[in-house]
Amino acid sequence: MRTRAYIALGSNLEQPELQLQRAVDEIDSFPGITLAGCSKLYQSDPVGPPGQPDYCNAVIAVDTTLTPIALLDAMQRVENDHGRVRSERWGPRTLDLDILLYGNEVVESERLTIPHYQMHLRNFVLLPLMDISPDLMLPGGMQLRKLAEKMGQDGLSVIAEQYPWF
Ligand code: ATP
Ligand code: CA
Ligand code: CA
Repeated sequence: MRTRAYIALGSNLEQPELQLQRAVDEIDSFPGITLAGCSKLYQSDPVGPPGQPDYCNAVIAVDTTLTPIALLDAMQRVENDHGRVRSERWGPRTLDLDILLYGNEVVESERLTIPHYQMHLRNFVLLPLMDISPDLMLPGGMQLRKLAEKMGQDGLSVIAEQYPWF
């Protein structure tokens, strides 16, 4: 069975635009995962510890035969291949891949919370998601459009329109 899932990508180290573009291609070529849509590429102000470089952000849609936990394993493999080092919370990183949604499923386990626990609070997640699926309904019946309308564009700008971004 194939499930539509959404993944948020972020990077603020070592040529973030290229990190994101490479990551999209790697995810698309991962066994059991097919790219189904890709947002514009955004730049955003950093959250977390001060003094970090700006972030690049995007969201992709994928169709996958992997279970949620196998999808997390796959995303962490791609992060590690990009030299992700886990240090301070919300510290700078070469690549961050967060699973936003997995079909309509709600997952709450030690390693995985879906929907992602802060997606409704982050304009750098909601606005790119709107690029791909403006009519999306979140588990629980909340409309993405409603959440996105409430969210300002503060600190967020588009740096490339269409994938491939470069
Ligand atoms: P935030 O989660 O606030 O965006 P972060 O992305 O910097 O912060 P990480 O250090 O990348 O946090 O991840 C910490 C852990 O979060 C991961 O090891 C993973 O097990 C867990 N996690 C829980 N839910 C998810 C999810 N939906 N997508 C990705 N990781 C998740
Ligand atoms: Ca994150
Ligand atoms: Ca993460």
